[in-house]
Amino acid sequence: MEGKGADKFVYDFAEGNKDLKDLLGGKGANLAEMTNLGLPVPAGFTITTVACQQYLASGAHVDGLEEEITSHLEKLEEAMGKRLGDPADPLLVSVRSGAKFSMPGMMETVLNVGLNDESVAGLSAQAGGDDRFAWDSYRRLIQMFGKTVCEVPGDEFEQALHNAKSAKGVRDDTDLDADDLKALVGAYKDVFAKHTGDDFPQDPREQMDRAIAAVFQSWNAPRAVLYRRQERIPADLGTAVNVVAMVFGNLGADSGTGVAFTRDPATGEQGIYGDYLQNAQGEDVVAGIRNTVPLQDLEGLDKKSYDELLGIMATLEGHYHDLCDIEFTIERGKLWMLQTRVGKRTAAAAFTIAAQLIDEGVIDLDEALRRVTGAQLAQLMFPRFDLAGDPEVLTKGVGASPGAAYGEVVFTAERATELAAQGKDVILVRRETNPDDLPGMIAAQGILTSRGGKTSHAAVVARGMGKTCVCGADQLEVSPSAFLVSGHTVNEGDVISIDGTTGRVYLGEVPVRPSEVVQYFEGDLDPALANEPLVAAVHRLMTHADERRRLAVRTNADTGPDAARARRFGAQGVGLCRTEHMFLGDRRELVERLILAEGDKERQAALDALKPLQRADFLELFREMNGLPVTVRLIDPPLHEFLPSLEDLAVHVAVAKERGESAKRSEKMLAAVRRMHESNPMLGMRGVRLGLVVPGLFGMQVRAIAEAAVALAQEGGRPRPEIMVPLVGAVQELETVRAEAEKIIAEVVGDSGVEIAIGTMIEVPRAALTAGQIAEAADFFSFGTNDLTQMGWGFSRDDVEGAFFWRYLELGIFGISPFESIDREGVGRLVRIASEEGRATRPDLKLGVCGEHGGDPESVHFFHEVGLDYVSCSPFRVPVARLEAGRAALPAQVTG
Ligand code: ADP
Ligand code: MG
Ligand code: MG
Repeated sequence: MEGKGADKFVYDFAEGNKDLKDLLGGKGANLAEMTNLGLPVPAGFTITTVACQQYLASGAHVDGLEEEITSHLEKLEEAMGKRLGDPADPLLVSVRSGAKFSMPGMMETVLNVGLNDESVAGLSAQAGGDDRFAWDSYRRLIQMFGKTVCEVPGDEFEQALHNAKSAKGVRDDTDLDADDLKALVGAYKDVFAKHTGDDFPQDPREQMDRAIAAVFQSWNAPRAVLYRRQERIPADLGTAVNVVAMVFGNLGADSGTGVAFTRDPATGEQGIYGDYLQNAQGEDVVAGIRNTVPLQDLEGLDKKSYDELLGIMATLEGHYHDLCDIEFTIERGKLWMLQTRVGKRTAAAAFTIAAQLIDEGVIDLDEALRRVTGAQLAQLMFPRFDLAGDPEVLTKGVGASPGAAYGEVVFTAERATELAAQGKDVILVRRETNPDDLPGMIAAQGILTSRGGKTSHAAVVARGMGKTCVCGADQLEVSPSAFLVSGHTVNEGDVISIDGTTGRVYLGEVPVRPSEVVQYFEGDLDPALANEPLVAAVHRLMTHADERRRLAVRTNADTGPDAARARRFGAQGVGLCRTEHMFLGDRRELVERLILAEGDKERQAALDALKPLQRADFLELFREMNGLPVTVRLIDPPLHEFLPSLEDLAVHVAVAKERGESAKRSEKMLAAVRRMHESNPMLGMRGVRLGLVVPGLFGMQVRAIAEAAVALAQEGGRPRPEIMVPLVGAVQELETVRAEAEKIIAEVVGDSGVEIAIGTMIEVPRAALTAGQIAEAADFFSFGTNDLTQMGWGFSRDDVEGAFFWRYLELGIFGISPFESIDREGVGRLVRIASEEGRATRPDLKLGVCGEHGGDPESVHFFHEVGLDYVSCSPFRVPVARLEAGRAALPAQVTG
């Protein structure tokens, strides 16, 4: 065993395989896999992520790494029969980053390493005297090395290139000849020297070592950090570095470079998808510098390579059992594979591809379910544009990432973040995007570009973020403050709408309607759409998830319509009905009467007035959920939340006095508000404490619940109410409430046959730790993970998220807000303890969770592991929770 790989930092491609992504990164692992499949991959080696971690932790030194690189480089040189940067016959390499998770455009790559003032001639000789090619390769090296290794501003190189082209009066890079490019190398060197204070390094090994170090360091570049945070990728993984012998797509018309997908990454349809660019190197395709041709056109250009490529694509799909994306280069008629991976895809494609692969017998239903996620399903539930109003189509581009977005047009990432911070919806419009635009892309509702296809930076990043994107709308003429299209000028601040599925761009704000998938869940799908592949795939995978899952899924709903919708979405009951919502609106007045009541009689009168209203609400809810459990939480928030604010009242009273008017009621209320003021209301008079202090309050609610249940039973229905007491920390609290409630229930229910369970929230840490006792008085527990997180960490949710969470995320104290996804180790441990100890007391104790976490995919998996009976979440998350609960129940996967 190689002690966690600690004494081996470098792997030749022949030594790795696809399952070593942690160590070799995705790119390195898949290059190794392709090498071992016998596919034409240029020789090379991978420096591990462990080397990167040590490099970053130690401040740039890793014991033994240099020697190991040297020996692998020697082997590479031997295999290629060339030495790195040899003036007469140079070996050139690319130095490429590659982390475990693909982070498009985040990390840097340097091509043509090993070129210098001397070896440029050797390269030309290798290419049969092609000086143009040699100087083009050299200028690319200086540009990429300068930008990524030495932080020379990229646009200075772009400017120099632009100047060279305009001096000559040409448009394309390919129109520059050898002499032009040689002069350009001179200009690039000046730019380099001006910014670094040094000459461009001529020593090939120094070039390589510095490029490797730069890849390591780029792991912590701000935009990489931002992307990781956005995508929830852990901060400590590090990146691997791949050193690969160069092959050249820029050797003339019989050379080129391209990208390919084994299926349509947007729809999952089988076919040939990709882009090809003749006489080009590396990034030229994705950068949208020149117009690519569809991959099919390669057949006419180079049939032999085309056929070989199709064969390899079939091999890769067969091998990975999944959609693969591919980067390749053709050097003078010889095809080389430079990258493959299981391709990123849209949410719709994930479902349709999974279903297709079942049909093709490639994978089974379980595997198909593993390949789709709740996050993807959530995306498919995004609204779509309603085109009934026949909105004006400005133009059409490539639908690169689905969704319907509208907003004010902005042209820079800075402006996008600025306006978004003011709460505005914006659409970021760019000729093309680059990694520096990332903050603006995150801030925007959608992204529109005039260049680039489905594989452009904008498209790849937007798909990754689930953000609407239309790209390659090539009729747009984008200038810094406006764009022109089909006779319209659209200025900054004008509103447009973009459809990431169809690629259409509309003028103005187009109304939206529910997606097909939501219509399917709602059961009112246009019959014409029922056989649509996406809907069919969703139906199939949801059905399988329902078969697999052990967790029931309930919903949080306070009203009949919400409950009804959730039931259509598959909810198996209500896990949380918040009764305080029934105290709002025109009922405030009654609540005020309750709070201001002097003496038992006044209070009882106020309660008596509230009861029929509550009973009607409950009856509606019970009817909608007939036959299914409905958990009603007794009133939870501090009562003063129902009164006007102290400031408003004080002003009102002062003004009235000034005018000599009577303000008796306001004064009384002001006094009450003063009396009830709390410094920490979330830790104050709320929940069960309120019930124990305000006589008759909980009793009124219990009576209303029981009466509603009896009413439904009399209608022939089957009510299954569950009364839930909030904020309990000690069994005595629950016992007291329970005793009163049982008495009332017995009185109301009589011999109607109605049964009402009584249980408690577990949301105070003390409750979790004394769950064994509390279970004596509880028929069920429902974990209130919002409060449990708040009190477990000692965070006031309303204050901390904006105040310091960014710093905690930056420091990696947590990878994601514990309010978004449950903190397994701490708060999760409380859930685990309470579940175990509660069930030890009462084996049939029912366990559930209500609160945000019930609809969070990660958390659903945790609740499955802990052995809860159900999760409860908002209606729209119900399908997501069903799917994830099914995935959580899948048997562990066998790898290899
Ligand atoms: P990214 O992760 O951004 O795709 P890559 O490391 O794949 O970066 O490299 C960027 C571009 O350079 C790709 O188009 C790739 O095909 C090309 N490239 C990388 N290594 C070589 C090589 N050895 N020979 C030719 N082209 C290469
Ligand atoms: Mg790549
Ligand atoms: Mg709570």
